[in-house]
Amino acid sequence: ILTAKTMEELVALCKRRGFIFQSNEIYGGLQGLYDYGPLGVELKNNLKQAWWRSMVFDRDDVEGLDASILTKPSVLKFSGHEDTFTDPLVDCKECNSRWRADQLKTPNCPSCGSSNLTDPRPFNLMFKTSVGPVEDSDSFAYLRPETAQHIFTNFKNVVDSTSKSLPFGIAQIGKAFRNEITPRNFIFRVREFEQMELEFFVIPGSDEDWHKEWVESRLAWWAEQGVPKDNLELYHVPSDELAHYSKATVDIMYKFPHGLEELEGIANRTDFDLGSHSKNQDELDINSSVMENKESNSRLAIQDQETKKWTVPYVIEPSAGVDRGVLAVLNEAYKVEDLGEGKSRTVLALRPHLSPIKAAVIPLKKNHEGLVGIASDIKKNLQKLRLGRILLENTGNIGKSYRRHDEIGTPLCITVDFETLEDDSVTIRDRDTMEQNRIKISDLPKYLENLIVK
Ligand code: ATP
Repeated sequence: ILTAKTMEELVALCKRRGFIFQSNEIYGGLQGLYDYGPLGVELKNNLKQAWWRSMVFDRDDVEGLDASILTKPSVLKFSGHEDTFTDPLVDCKECNSRWRADQLKTPNCPSCGSSNLTDPRPFNLMFKTSVGPVEDSDSFAYLRPETAQHIFTNFKNVVDSTSKSLPFGIAQIGKAFRNEITPRNFIFRVREFEQMELEFFVIPGSDEDWHKEWVESRLAWWAEQGVPKDNLELYHVPSDELAHYSKATVDIMYKFPHGLEELEGIANRTDFDLGSHSKNQDELDINSSVMENKESNSRLAIQDQETKKWTVPYVIEPSAGVDRGVLAVLNEAYKVEDLGEGKSRTVLALRPHLSPIKAAVIPLKKNHEGLVGIASDIKKNLQKLRLGRILLENTGNIGKSYRRHDEIGTPLCITVDFETLEDDSVTIRDRDTMEQNRIKISDLPKYLENLIVK
């Protein structure tokens, strides 16, 4: 039997077990920022790795990139972000609180109830910082609000260095920053977050088919991370809500503990970005309303070797939030099971490839030389498989260790007991079934590999 999960339960588990902490906490915190603790960093890295594997390693038509966060204002001018990357801001004239107009459920201030609010005005979400020792108006840079722009600015570099032809993609994972008016709902809406973005460049005209294909492919990927299709909904963004660069956007919505909201957006960005960042635009066949550009020194287009014709590709962009992904994966995995007789257990039924710890090796008796020696050898050998973190847990309290590892999602516990000293076998306990079996130490690597890689 599963109990309902609330955001509070997840937040409490994350803090108690070391997944996620409030950032700057000892100085009272800073709103909209979170830190990933010892287990959170593993979970987050595993999710990012799963994305990278599926986008880059499993395909031959996608290359990776890791570009800078600080971004020259020109980039975000010609991308359209300086003009349009805004949310509508209203102030409460009574209590001075600030709100996003499109998120207000009533015409009144959610804080004090007053109806005395200002008219909405556009508030740009980009963070600025100064660059170099002199602080003047010419020496600032933006912290990127999406990872995508430097994929576009590096388009020619990647094409020239890899000889790619259409269709092909460039993938990047990294931090993005948005000065959200009202950060909230734990790691759902924060001011510093990570994105996993693919820009998939296609021949104009084939964009709508590719768009559909990427939506299906991303749904299948989320299912592999333990977020099944049945718990996701597709939202076809209406034209009056589309971002300035988009011809069509499909949002993958997930039922987060606080409600149905966007987990990933898949946009058809047309040739807007490459076209807007290109020089000599009048020589190019650009269909959409690009920004006029006299500053760029590059043509972000691809030339057909035979016809010599230049094409500015269209681009399909699946853009997923890492933090929202972590929240969805945790929410799906969190279960409280009724064991009868008034007992229950909390389990994080994470897909094993995402689990922060892959296996815990537990000597039955704390500090017992023989048992700890064997356990430590097992740990070292399993660690060599490079499947992720294997933990030697020298606590001597098996029941407590099992409970802890259920709660943090460790798929396998391996207990070294006195029988081990005689027959080289250990007890393995499965997190999901709680079944215990004995197997030979020599069979452990294959067993663990099957469990994690399956
Ligand atoms: P929202 O409408 O929820 O503000 P968005 O449409 O502005 O999101 P995109 O610009 O499409 O978001 O960004 C792509 C992805 O980046 C989102 O699907 C989300 O997973 C993630 N993301 C965007 N803003 C935030 C944020 N403030 N905190 C955490 N993740 C975010």
